[in-house]
Amino acid sequence: MLKTIVWNRKALVALQRYNLGDTIHTFNGQMKATPTKTSVQIGLHAHVEDEYGTFMNHSCLPNTIVHNQQLIATRTINVGSELTYNYINTETTLCKPFICHFCHTYIDGTNTVCPTYKKHTFSFSNDIVALR
Ligand SMILES: [Zn+2]
Repeated sequence: MLKTIVWNRKALVALQRYNLGDTIHTFNGQMKATPTKTSVQIGLHAHVEDEYGTFMNHSCLPNTIVHNQQLIATRTINVGSELTYNYINTETTLCKPFICHFCHTYIDGTNTVCPTYKKHTFSFSNDIVALR
């Protein structure tokens, strides 16, 4: 994975091809009980400041999901693709809510209803529901 800057924002880019279900990364780093702008939520009150996770952007058409402490591919990801996940799956309450550029939905956490995102596009939904 490559930490980089794309269009003036941080981004994480795949340096190899991934297939559906591949574990791309295991989040690791300083744990916090509350979210920050750069943390990734991996449990009810568990937010990790991971050196790669801080570069990951939201997408309502994501190619990964955060599952337990791992980043997993939800479809084939080609070299050069940006790695994204949908914040509303795992972030209970975002530290900095925002308007999604794609669907124009106000994204503030797991209560967000995104018109674009379809949970059935991946097979880990039961675990995600359990996390909520
Ligand atoms: Zn969106």
